Amino acid sequence: MPPEVHNPADVSAGGILSDQLGRPLRSLRVSVTDRCNLRCNYCMPQEEYVWLPRQELLTFEEITRLVDVFTSLGITDVRLTGGEPLLRRDLAGLVRMLAGNPQIRDLALTTNGVLFAEQAEDLRDAGLHRVTLSLDTLRPERFLALTGRDTHAQVLRGIAAAPRAGFANLKLDTVVLRGTNDDELADLIEFGREAGAEVRFIEYMDVGGATEWSLDKVFTRVEMLDQLDKRYGAIEPLGENSSAPAERFRLPDGTVFGIIASTTTPFCRRCDRSRLTADGLWYLCLYAQSGIDLRQMVRGGASREEIASRISSVWRERNDRGAELRAATGHRGVLVGIEQLRQDPHLEMHTRGG
Ligand code: SAM
Repeated sequence: MPPEVHNPADVSAGGILSDQLGRPLRSLRVSVTDRCNLRCNYCMPQEEYVWLPRQELLTFEEITRLVDVFTSLGITDVRLTGGEPLLRRDLAGLVRMLAGNPQIRDLALTTNGVLFAEQAEDLRDAGLHRVTLSLDTLRPERFLALTGRDTHAQVLRGIAAAPRAGFANLKLDTVVLRGTNDDELADLIEFGREAGAEVRFIEYMDVGGATEWSLDKVFTRVEMLDQLDKRYGAIEPLGENSSAPAERFRLPDGTVFGIIASTTTPFCRRCDRSRLTADGLWYLCLYAQSGIDLRQMVRGGASREEIASRISSVWRERNDRGAELRAATGHRGVLVGIEQLRQDPHLEMHTRGG
Protein backbone atom coordinates (compact mmCIF):
# COMPACT_ATOMS: atom_id res chain seq x y z
CA MET A 1 0.00 0.00 0.00
CA PRO A 2 1.40 3.46 -0.93
CA PRO A 3 2.45 5.61 2.03
CA GLU A 4 0.25 8.39 3.46
CA VAL A 5 1.35 11.81 2.39
CA HIS A 6 2.27 14.66 4.71
CA ASN A 7 4.12 16.82 2.22
CA PRO A 8 2.65 17.56 -1.26
CA ALA A 9 5.98 16.74 -2.83
CA ASP A 10 5.56 13.18 -1.54
CA VAL A 11 2.62 12.62 -3.90
CA SER A 12 4.88 12.71 -6.92
CA ALA A 13 6.91 10.05 -5.12
CA GLY A 14 3.92 7.71 -5.19
CA GLY A 15 2.19 8.56 -1.90
CA ILE A 16 -1.53 9.04 -1.44
CA LEU A 17 -2.99 12.27 -0.13
CA SER A 18 -5.69 11.19 2.33
CA ASP A 19 -8.19 13.04 4.49
CA GLN A 20 -9.05 12.52 8.16
CA LEU A 21 -11.14 9.44 7.30
CA GLY A 22 -8.46 7.95 5.05
CA ARG A 23 -10.26 8.95 1.83
CA PRO A 24 -7.92 9.69 -1.07
CA LEU A 25 -8.03 12.76 -3.28
CA ARG A 26 -8.92 10.96 -6.49
CA SER A 27 -11.96 12.26 -8.32
CA LEU A 28 -12.65 15.86 -9.37
CA ARG A 29 -15.88 17.12 -10.89
CA VAL A 30 -15.32 20.29 -12.85
CA SER A 31 -18.36 22.45 -13.50
CA VAL A 32 -17.82 24.53 -16.63
CA THR A 33 -21.02 26.58 -16.45
CA ASP A 34 -23.92 27.16 -14.09
CA ARG A 35 -26.33 27.61 -17.02
CA CYS A 36 -28.69 24.87 -18.10
CA ASN A 37 -31.08 24.37 -21.00
CA LEU A 38 -33.51 22.28 -18.91
CA ARG A 39 -35.47 23.18 -15.79
CA CYS A 40 -35.79 19.79 -14.07
CA ASN A 41 -38.11 20.32 -11.16
CA TYR A 42 -35.84 18.36 -8.78
CA CYS A 43 -32.82 20.54 -9.59
CA MET A 44 -33.77 23.92 -11.11
CA PRO A 45 -37.48 24.45 -10.50
CA GLN A 46 -37.24 28.21 -11.12
CA GLU A 47 -37.02 29.73 -14.59
CA GLU A 48 -34.55 32.48 -13.62
CA TYR A 49 -31.59 32.33 -11.29
CA VAL A 50 -28.80 34.54 -9.98
CA TRP A 51 -26.09 33.49 -12.46
CA LEU A 52 -22.37 33.61 -11.84
CA PRO A 53 -20.84 36.79 -13.31
CA ARG A 54 -19.19 35.94 -16.65
CA GLN A 55 -15.90 37.60 -15.82
CA GLU A 56 -15.58 35.30 -12.83
CA LEU A 57 -15.83 32.08 -14.84
CA LEU A 58 -12.50 30.32 -15.12
CA THR A 59 -10.98 30.34 -18.60
CA PHE A 60 -9.96 27.02 -20.16
CA GLU A 61 -6.33 27.89 -19.36
CA GLU A 62 -7.21 28.51 -15.71
CA ILE A 63 -9.20 25.27 -15.47
CA THR A 64 -6.36 23.32 -17.07
CA ARG A 65 -3.85 24.88 -14.75
CA LEU A 66 -5.87 24.01 -11.67
CA VAL A 67 -6.55 20.48 -12.90
CA ASP A 68 -2.80 20.05 -13.44
CA VAL A 69 -2.22 20.95 -9.80
CA PHE A 70 -4.94 18.54 -8.70
CA THR A 71 -3.53 15.69 -10.76
CA SER A 72 -0.06 16.35 -9.33
CA LEU A 73 -1.69 15.64 -5.93
CA GLY A 74 -3.35 12.39 -6.93
CA ILE A 75 -6.50 13.19 -8.91
CA THR A 76 -6.88 10.63 -11.70
CA ASP A 77 -10.59 10.97 -12.56
CA VAL A 78 -11.94 14.20 -13.99
CA ARG A 79 -15.59 14.67 -14.90
CA LEU A 80 -16.90 17.74 -16.72
CA THR A 81 -20.33 18.81 -15.55
CA GLY A 82 -22.46 21.85 -14.83
CA GLY A 83 -25.16 23.25 -15.26
CA GLU A 84 -25.19 21.82 -18.72
CA PRO A 85 -21.55 21.51 -19.81
CA LEU A 86 -22.37 21.45 -23.52
CA LEU A 87 -23.58 25.05 -23.23
CA ARG A 88 -19.99 26.15 -22.65
CA ARG A 89 -18.63 27.31 -25.98
CA ASP A 90 -16.01 25.00 -27.53
CA LEU A 91 -16.09 22.44 -24.74
CA ALA A 92 -14.09 20.16 -27.05
CA GLY A 93 -11.29 22.73 -26.81
CA LEU A 94 -11.16 22.25 -23.05
CA VAL A 95 -11.31 18.47 -23.44
CA ARG A 96 -8.34 18.65 -25.82
CA MET A 97 -6.33 20.63 -23.27
CA LEU A 98 -7.18 18.24 -20.43
CA ALA A 99 -6.60 15.15 -22.55
CA GLY A 100 -2.97 16.26 -22.82
CA ASN A 101 -2.56 15.54 -19.10
CA PRO A 102 -1.22 11.96 -18.82
CA GLN A 103 -2.17 11.70 -15.14
CA ILE A 104 -5.88 11.76 -15.98
CA ARG A 105 -6.91 8.12 -16.33
CA ASP A 106 -10.61 8.80 -16.72
CA LEU A 107 -11.82 11.94 -18.51
CA ALA A 108 -15.62 11.89 -18.50
CA LEU A 109 -18.62 14.10 -19.14
CA THR A 110 -22.08 14.27 -17.57
CA THR A 111 -24.69 15.83 -19.84
CA ASN A 112 -28.44 16.01 -20.26
CA GLY A 113 -27.84 15.01 -23.87
CA VAL A 114 -29.87 17.79 -25.54
CA LEU A 115 -26.85 19.07 -27.48
CA PHE A 116 -24.79 15.90 -27.46
CA ALA A 117 -25.57 14.57 -30.95
CA GLU A 118 -23.95 17.64 -32.56
CA GLN A 119 -20.86 17.56 -30.36
CA ALA A 120 -20.24 13.84 -29.81
CA GLU A 121 -17.65 13.35 -32.56
CA ASP A 122 -15.72 16.51 -31.74
CA LEU A 123 -15.60 15.54 -28.09
CA ARG A 124 -14.41 12.05 -28.91
CA ASP A 125 -11.77 13.39 -31.31
CA ALA A 126 -10.65 15.82 -28.63
CA GLY A 127 -9.92 12.90 -26.29
CA LEU A 128 -13.01 12.51 -24.08
CA HIS A 129 -13.03 8.95 -22.70
CA ARG A 130 -16.55 8.45 -21.41
CA VAL A 131 -19.98 10.00 -21.21
CA THR A 132 -22.90 9.70 -18.81
CA LEU A 133 -26.24 10.96 -20.06
CA SER A 134 -29.15 11.86 -17.82
CA LEU A 135 -32.45 10.30 -18.86
CA ASP A 136 -35.34 10.40 -16.42
CA THR A 137 -38.15 9.23 -18.67
CA LEU A 138 -38.86 7.59 -22.01
CA ARG A 139 -42.10 9.53 -22.41
CA PRO A 140 -41.94 12.89 -24.19
CA GLU A 141 -44.94 14.32 -22.33
CA ARG A 142 -43.38 13.43 -19.00
CA PHE A 143 -40.08 14.91 -20.07
CA LEU A 144 -41.88 18.18 -20.88
CA ALA A 145 -43.65 18.19 -17.51
CA LEU A 146 -40.43 17.34 -15.64
CA THR A 147 -38.00 19.65 -17.44
CA GLY A 148 -40.22 22.41 -18.81
CA ARG A 149 -38.68 21.85 -22.26
CA ASP A 150 -39.83 19.99 -25.34
CA THR A 151 -36.46 18.45 -26.24
CA HIS A 152 -36.90 14.77 -25.43
CA ALA A 153 -36.24 13.69 -29.02
CA GLN A 154 -32.91 15.55 -28.97
CA VAL A 155 -31.89 13.67 -25.82
CA LEU A 156 -32.68 10.34 -27.47
CA ARG A 157 -30.67 11.41 -30.53
CA GLY A 158 -27.81 12.29 -28.22
CA ILE A 159 -27.88 8.84 -26.62
CA ALA A 160 -27.89 7.18 -30.04
CA ALA A 161 -24.96 9.33 -31.16
CA ALA A 162 -22.68 8.20 -28.32
CA PRO A 163 -21.76 4.70 -29.55
CA ARG A 164 -21.59 5.97 -33.14
CA ALA A 165 -18.95 8.46 -32.06
CA GLY A 166 -17.00 5.63 -30.42
CA PHE A 167 -17.97 6.03 -26.76
CA ALA A 168 -18.04 2.76 -24.84
CA ASN A 169 -19.18 2.14 -21.23
CA LEU A 170 -22.13 4.44 -21.74
CA LYS A 171 -24.15 5.20 -18.60
CA LEU A 172 -27.67 6.57 -18.28
CA ASP A 173 -28.57 8.32 -15.01
CA THR A 174 -32.18 8.46 -13.86
CA VAL A 175 -33.40 10.37 -10.82
CA VAL A 176 -36.41 8.38 -9.60
CA LEU A 177 -39.25 10.47 -8.19
CA ARG A 178 -42.26 8.89 -6.57
CA GLY A 179 -45.39 9.55 -8.58
CA THR A 180 -43.42 10.91 -11.55
CA ASN A 181 -41.30 8.18 -13.14
CA ASP A 182 -41.17 5.36 -10.56
CA ASP A 183 -43.17 3.16 -12.96
CA GLU A 184 -40.45 3.31 -15.66
CA LEU A 185 -37.58 1.41 -14.04
CA ALA A 186 -37.95 -1.75 -16.11
CA ASP A 187 -38.63 0.23 -19.31
CA LEU A 188 -35.44 2.22 -18.75
CA ILE A 189 -33.44 -0.95 -18.14
CA GLU A 190 -34.79 -2.40 -21.41
CA PHE A 191 -34.01 0.83 -23.22
CA GLY A 192 -30.49 0.84 -21.78
CA ARG A 193 -29.91 -2.72 -22.88
CA GLU A 194 -30.90 -1.83 -26.45
CA ALA A 195 -28.75 1.30 -26.38
CA GLY A 196 -25.74 -0.57 -24.98
CA ALA A 197 -25.85 1.52 -21.80
CA GLU A 198 -25.89 0.75 -18.10
CA VAL A 199 -28.74 2.46 -16.28
CA ARG A 200 -28.22 3.90 -12.81
CA PHE A 201 -31.16 4.90 -10.67
CA ILE A 202 -30.53 7.84 -8.36
CA GLU A 203 -32.49 8.60 -5.22
CA TYR A 204 -33.88 12.12 -5.08
CA MET A 205 -31.47 14.15 -2.94
CA ASP A 206 -32.27 17.13 -0.73
CA VAL A 207 -29.32 19.12 -2.04
CA GLY A 208 -29.37 22.88 -2.64
CA GLY A 209 -31.63 23.65 -5.58
CA ALA A 210 -34.05 20.85 -4.71
CA THR A 211 -36.52 23.30 -3.23
CA GLU A 212 -39.45 20.99 -3.96
CA TRP A 213 -37.87 18.05 -2.13
CA SER A 214 -39.79 16.03 0.42
CA LEU A 215 -39.09 12.61 1.87
CA ASP A 216 -42.29 11.14 0.48
CA LYS A 217 -41.10 11.90 -3.09
CA VAL A 218 -37.96 9.80 -2.56
CA PHE A 219 -38.38 6.43 -4.26
CA THR A 220 -35.89 4.46 -2.22
CA ARG A 221 -33.24 1.91 -3.11
CA VAL A 222 -35.27 -0.75 -1.27
CA GLU A 223 -38.38 0.08 -3.29
CA MET A 224 -36.42 0.06 -6.55
CA LEU A 225 -35.01 -3.39 -5.81
CA ASP A 226 -38.41 -4.66 -4.74
CA GLN A 227 -40.05 -3.46 -7.95
CA LEU A 228 -37.33 -4.93 -10.17
CA ASP A 229 -37.27 -8.17 -8.21
CA LYS A 230 -41.00 -8.63 -8.83
CA ARG A 231 -40.53 -8.02 -12.52
CA TYR A 232 -37.32 -9.95 -13.22
CA GLY A 233 -36.82 -12.41 -10.35
CA ALA A 234 -33.85 -12.64 -8.01
CA ILE A 235 -31.42 -9.76 -8.36
CA GLU A 236 -27.79 -10.42 -7.54
CA PRO A 237 -25.70 -7.66 -5.92
CA LEU A 238 -22.27 -7.53 -7.53
CA GLY A 239 -20.75 -6.72 -4.15
CA GLU A 240 -18.00 -4.52 -5.55
CA ASN A 241 -15.94 -2.65 -3.05
CA SER A 242 -15.25 0.51 -5.01
CA SER A 243 -15.40 4.24 -4.43
CA ALA A 244 -17.95 4.59 -7.26
CA PRO A 245 -21.24 6.01 -5.98
CA ALA A 246 -23.35 3.33 -7.67
CA GLU A 247 -23.98 -0.04 -6.11
CA ARG A 248 -24.29 -2.47 -9.02
CA PHE A 249 -26.67 -5.39 -9.48
CA ARG A 250 -27.23 -8.13 -12.03
CA LEU A 251 -30.62 -9.31 -13.30
CA PRO A 252 -31.15 -13.04 -13.97
CA ASP A 253 -30.62 -12.38 -17.71
CA GLY A 254 -27.19 -10.85 -17.01
CA THR A 255 -28.16 -7.19 -17.45
CA VAL A 256 -26.31 -4.97 -15.00
CA PHE A 257 -27.75 -1.78 -13.49
CA GLY A 258 -26.79 0.52 -10.63
CA ILE A 259 -28.42 2.38 -7.78
CA ILE A 260 -27.04 5.57 -6.26
CA ALA A 261 -28.73 5.72 -2.87
CA SER A 262 -27.23 8.91 -1.47
CA THR A 263 -30.40 9.75 0.46
CA THR A 264 -31.17 6.50 2.30
CA THR A 265 -27.78 4.75 2.14
CA PRO A 266 -25.06 7.42 2.00
CA PHE A 267 -21.57 6.40 0.97
CA CYS A 268 -19.59 9.24 2.57
CA ARG A 269 -17.00 6.81 3.95
CA ARG A 270 -15.96 5.92 0.41
CA CYS A 271 -16.28 9.40 -1.09
CA ASP A 272 -13.11 10.49 -2.91
CA ARG A 273 -14.95 13.23 -4.81
CA SER A 274 -14.67 16.99 -4.70
CA ARG A 275 -16.02 19.72 -6.92
CA LEU A 276 -14.68 22.80 -8.66
CA THR A 277 -17.31 25.36 -9.63
CA ALA A 278 -17.18 27.25 -12.92
CA ASP A 279 -15.88 30.28 -11.03
CA GLY A 280 -13.16 28.38 -9.23
CA LEU A 281 -14.54 27.55 -5.80
CA TRP A 282 -13.58 24.11 -4.55
CA TYR A 283 -16.20 22.17 -2.57
CA LEU A 284 -15.36 19.06 -0.58
CA CYS A 285 -18.95 17.87 -0.24
CA LEU A 286 -22.21 18.34 -2.12
CA TYR A 287 -23.74 19.40 1.20
CA ALA A 288 -20.94 21.82 2.18
CA GLN A 289 -22.01 25.36 3.05
CA SER A 290 -18.83 26.99 1.71
CA GLY A 291 -15.94 26.33 -0.63
CA ILE A 292 -12.27 27.23 -1.00
CA ASP A 293 -11.58 30.10 -3.40
CA LEU A 294 -8.97 28.83 -5.86
CA ARG A 295 -9.81 31.44 -8.52
CA GLN A 296 -8.44 34.14 -6.30
CA MET A 297 -5.19 32.21 -5.97
CA VAL A 298 -4.91 31.59 -9.72
CA ARG A 299 -5.72 35.18 -10.64
CA GLY A 300 -3.68 36.59 -7.78
CA GLY A 301 -0.52 35.04 -9.19
CA ALA A 302 -0.08 32.20 -6.68
CA SER A 303 2.54 29.70 -7.76
CA ARG A 304 1.75 26.09 -8.58
CA GLU A 305 3.42 25.04 -5.33
CA GLU A 306 1.34 27.49 -3.28
CA ILE A 307 -1.90 26.22 -4.82
CA ALA A 308 -0.81 22.60 -4.31
CA SER A 309 0.06 23.31 -0.71
CA ARG A 310 -3.35 24.92 -0.07
CA ILE A 311 -5.23 22.03 -1.71
CA SER A 312 -3.30 19.37 0.14
CA SER A 313 -3.63 21.02 3.54
CA VAL A 314 -7.39 21.45 3.03
CA TRP A 315 -7.78 17.83 1.90
CA ARG A 316 -5.79 16.50 4.83
CA GLU A 317 -8.18 18.29 7.20
CA ARG A 318 -11.33 17.08 5.41
CA ASN A 319 -13.71 15.17 7.63
CA ASP A 320 -17.15 15.93 6.20
CA ARG A 321 -19.89 13.36 5.86
CA GLY A 322 -22.66 15.56 4.52
CA ALA A 323 -25.08 12.90 3.27
CA GLU A 324 -24.66 10.75 6.39
CA LEU A 325 -25.38 13.68 8.67
CA ARG A 326 -28.45 14.59 6.61
CA ALA A 327 -29.68 11.00 6.80
CA ALA A 328 -29.32 11.13 10.58
CA THR A 329 -31.54 14.25 10.77
CA GLY A 330 -34.78 13.31 12.46
CA HIS A 331 -37.25 15.44 10.51
CA ARG A 332 -35.90 15.99 7.05
CA GLY A 333 -37.10 18.76 4.76
CA VAL A 334 -35.74 21.14 2.12
CA LEU A 335 -32.05 21.77 2.83
CA VAL A 336 -31.78 25.37 1.60
CA GLY A 337 -34.66 27.78 1.06
CA ILE A 338 -35.08 29.90 -2.08
CA GLU A 339 -34.09 33.15 -0.36
CA GLN A 340 -30.79 31.70 0.84
CA LEU A 341 -30.13 30.21 -2.61
CA ARG A 342 -30.67 33.63 -4.19
CA GLN A 343 -28.14 35.14 -1.84
CA ASP A 344 -25.55 32.46 -2.48
CA PRO A 345 -25.92 30.68 -5.83
CA HIS A 346 -22.96 28.47 -4.90
CA LEU A 347 -25.38 26.49 -2.75
CA GLU A 348 -27.20 25.39 -5.94
CA MET A 349 -26.58 21.91 -7.35
CA HIS A 350 -26.36 23.38 -10.87
CA THR A 351 -23.53 25.70 -9.72
CA ARG A 352 -21.69 23.10 -7.74
CA GLY A 353 -21.84 20.45 -10.46
CA GLY A 354 -23.93 17.38 -9.74
N1 SAM B 1 -26.73 18.95 -16.93
C1 SAM B 1 -26.00 17.74 -16.74
C2 SAM B 1 -26.93 16.57 -16.60
O1 SAM B 1 -28.15 16.77 -16.64
O2 SAM B 1 -26.45 15.45 -16.47
C3 SAM B 1 -24.98 17.77 -15.62
C4 SAM B 1 -25.34 18.45 -14.34
S1 SAM B 1 -26.65 17.70 -13.42
C5 SAM B 1 -26.70 18.74 -11.99
C6 SAM B 1 -25.88 16.20 -12.88
C7 SAM B 1 -26.80 15.14 -12.35
O3 SAM B 1 -27.35 15.55 -11.12
C8 SAM B 1 -27.97 14.78 -13.25
O4 SAM B 1 -27.99 13.40 -13.50
C9 SAM B 1 -29.16 15.18 -12.42
O5 SAM B 1 -30.26 14.37 -12.68
C10 SAM B 1 -28.64 15.01 -11.01
N2 SAM B 1 -29.41 15.74 -10.01
C11 SAM B 1 -29.73 17.05 -9.98
N3 SAM B 1 -30.47 17.34 -8.89
C12 SAM B 1 -30.63 16.19 -8.21
C13 SAM B 1 -31.29 15.85 -6.99
N4 SAM B 1 -31.97 16.74 -6.29
N5 SAM B 1 -31.22 14.56 -6.59
C14 SAM B 1 -30.54 13.64 -7.30
N6 SAM B 1 -29.89 13.91 -8.44
C15 SAM B 1 -29.94 15.17 -8.89
